Amino acid sequence: MKRALVCGAGGFIGGHLVKRLKREGYFVRGVDIKEHEYAVSQADDFIKGDLRDPLFCDKITKDMKFDELYQLAADMGGAGYIFTGDHDSAVMHNSATINLNMAEVSRLNGITKIFYSSSACIYPERIQKDANNPGLKEEDAYPAGPDSEYGWEKLFSERLFMAYSRNYGIEVHIARFHNIFGPEGTWNGGREKAPAAMCRKVAEAAEGGKMDIWGDGEQTRTFLYVDDCLEGIRRLMESKFAGPVNIGSDELISINNLAKMAMQIAGKNVELNHIPGPLGVRGRCSDNTLIQEKLGWRPSSKLIDGMTVTYKWIAAQVEKAKK
Ligand code: NAD
Repeated sequence: MKRALVCGAGGFIGGHLVKRLKREGYFVRGVDIKEHEYAVSQADDFIKGDLRDPLFCDKITKDMKFDELYQLAADMGGAGYIFTGDHDSAVMHNSATINLNMAEVSRLNGITKIFYSSSACIYPERIQKDANNPGLKEEDAYPAGPDSEYGWEKLFSERLFMAYSRNYGIEVHIARFHNIFGPEGTWNGGREKAPAAMCRKVAEAAEGGKMDIWGDGEQTRTFLYVDDCLEGIRRLMESKFAGPVNIGSDELISINNLAKMAMQIAGKNVELNHIPGPLGVRGRCSDNTLIQEKLGWRPSSKLIDGMTVTYKWIAAQVEKAKK
C-alpha cells in the first residue's frame, strides 16, 4: 500500500485530494493547522499542527516512510485576501516558511517524490492587462512580474522545490492551478474566491435584490472544477514530467457573467451593484497545450456543471447559517 502525506488536508483541495487518494487505495496522513471545516477528514491519520514549526514538520515525516508528499498548505485566499495588500507579509512569511520546512524535512527524512501546488498568480501582470486574454503559457512566467506577493512567494517556492530536485535527486512535480472551485471550499469570511462569492451573494439575495461586484465586473478568469484538478494532479504525479504546468480551464468568463450564471442556476434575478474593490489582473486564461501534450489532460466538465453543484452546496450552507 502506498503512503501519501497531504499537507493542507484541512483545506479545500487538500480535503478532496485525501478522498481521491483513499479511493485509489493509499494510506493517507493528513496534516493541517485546523480540522476540515465542512467534512470529516477521510485521512487514515490526521495530525493537527503548524507547518511553520520545523520540529513539527520533522515529527510528521520521521515516524513513517512516505512514498509521496502533496504540499498544498499555504496562507491563501481570494482577491479579498490576496490583493488588498494587508496580508502581504503574512502570506510571504507563512507560506515560504512552510515550503522551506517541508523541502528540508523531505531531504532529511527520505521523501523522494513531491507534488507542489503553485498558482496562475505567478504570471506577469504585464501580459494580463486585456480582458480577452489569449491564454498563459508556462514559458510566459519569465521575465517575472506577478501582481501580488502571493504570486512572488509561489514563484520562489517553485524554484525552491526545483533546486531540491536538482541538488538532492528528489522527484518534484509542480502544477500552477488556475482558480479551482467546488463544494466544501471557503464560501464566506473574506478568503472565498469568485465562484463561491457569486454563489453566496446570489443565495443570500432576495429576488429582485442587489449584490455587490468589485470593479466593473468585466475582468475575466477561468475556473476549474475540483475533480478535474485532482485528475491533473494524479496524472502529473504518475508521469515523469516535472512541470511547472498549468492545471486550469480555458473557458474564459467575466465576473459579471459568472454572477449571471449563478442567478440562472438559482432561478433568481439580482441586480449587480458595482463598487470599488480588490481586482487583480484584467484577464487571465490557462493555455493547456503543454498539459495536453504531456499528460493527455483537459478539463472534462463545463463551468455551468461545476457551478450547479457548487451553488447547491453553498445555498445549503447559507440556509444552515441562518438557523
Ligand atoms: P485552502 O486555504 O482551503 O487550503 C490551504 C490549507 O493550508 C488550509 O486548510 C490551511 O489551514 C492550511 N495551512 C495554512 N497555514 C498552515 C500552517 N501554518 N500549518 C498547517 N496548515 C496550514 O486553499 P486551497 O484552495 O485548498 O489551496 C490549496 C493549495 O493550492 C494552496 O497552496 C493554494 O495556494 C494553491 N492554489 C489554489 C488555487 C485555488 O483556486 N483554490 C489556485 C492556485 C493555487
